[in-house]
Amino acid sequence: MKDRSLLMIPGPIEFEPAVLSAMGNPTPSHVAPEFIEVFGQALERMREVFLAPDGQPFVVAGSGTLAMDLAGANLVEPGDRALVVNTGYFGDRYGDLLGRYGAEVTHVRAPIGSRPALDEVEAALSAGHYKLMTVTHVDTSTGVVTDVKGLAALARARGVLIVVDGVCSVAGEVLRMTEWGVDVALTASQKAIGTPPGLALLVAGPRALEAFSHRKTDVGNYYADWTNWLPVMQAYEARKPSYFGTPAVNLVSALNVSLGQILAEGMDARFLRHSRVSQACKAGIAALGLGQVPLSDEMAATTMTAPRYPAGLAGPDFLAKAKAAGVILAGGLHPAIRGEYFRIGHMGAVSQGDVLATVGAVESALAACGYGFEHGVGIAATMGILAE
Ligand code: PMP
Repeated sequence: MKDRSLLMIPGPIEFEPAVLSAMGNPTPSHVAPEFIEVFGQALERMREVFLAPDGQPFVVAGSGTLAMDLAGANLVEPGDRALVVNTGYFGDRYGDLLGRYGAEVTHVRAPIGSRPALDEVEAALSAGHYKLMTVTHVDTSTGVVTDVKGLAALARARGVLIVVDGVCSVAGEVLRMTEWGVDVALTASQKAIGTPPGLALLVAGPRALEAFSHRKTDVGNYYADWTNWLPVMQAYEARKPSYFGTPAVNLVSALNVSLGQILAEGMDARFLRHSRVSQACKAGIAALGLGQVPLSDEMAATTMTAPRYPAGLAGPDFLAKAKAAGVILAGGLHPAIRGEYFRIGHMGAVSQGDVLATVGAVESALAACGYGFEHGVGIAATMGILAE
């Protein structure tokens, strides 16, 4: 029988058939006029999806960590001070990464499931002369969303560059790059952007490019150096051939299809759909009596849900039973609470049917694990939100 399992993890997600079929087209030359047109259009569409009319898009073969590296390598010089607004595993990663380029890194942290308050970040910013601040929009290890708009305003007021790790957010969570004053936003293809894994996607705003142009030292990473990529991105947008490293041509073609679909839906409609699906999922989980890692609704992401297991329930067994019920879910990621929770991704082309199937599989798996609850109560709560 065909494997009809539904992949509901926080990336990679399920991809649209038109995106997947674009991957299967014969590979063109990276300087073929048809491909130059596709790449140029994808870059233009990135600007619209990131809501960054004044931004410079970069599309480079690699995963989301390369996108983080692109920002770190190009904006940090040895001795620069960097503030990491840390809400979990990917904040730790950003701190490590910036340190590799010689940054003096300070973390502003919060208890697991929470986020540093704006006044704590303001206090940290006022205590040091920071060049840049990184913020994880949604930390995929906790499902906590940060207030990027508020944080960007703080950074702006102090002339600090703000880099947003939007790997679990861009094209799902509301992010208005130019309007909010975000200097760099980055993501990976395999999440809400809806293209198979393999592309690092980044948009740099004018202040970031300005800071880059004033560097005194060479970029300490050859592949990531914007000096190499900027002319390539500009050339593709000008519909001219160019080369630095061979682009992932099939993936870029798929990306262009996916970006086209995102824009056809419309950014506001897309944000609203993600919000409804998220509320429906979270209502189902709450009705089943499960807590969540984020400590409040306000701090919970819309691209994913991080439910806590009921006491005594074994995670691997639960996940296997959910898979047997047709839905693949992810285990915990944050090292301090790894065995205590699981993760549901609901981004990209996610539908009402997907979220119903997911809550249904969670119910089936809980029941099979011997957890006592009134059957159907999760589905009913999910349906209640979807019917509103
Ligand atoms: N940042 C966040 C918030 C992520 O969720 C991830 C991936 N889960 C990454 C960075 C790293 O992306 P990748 O695994 O594609 O390198």
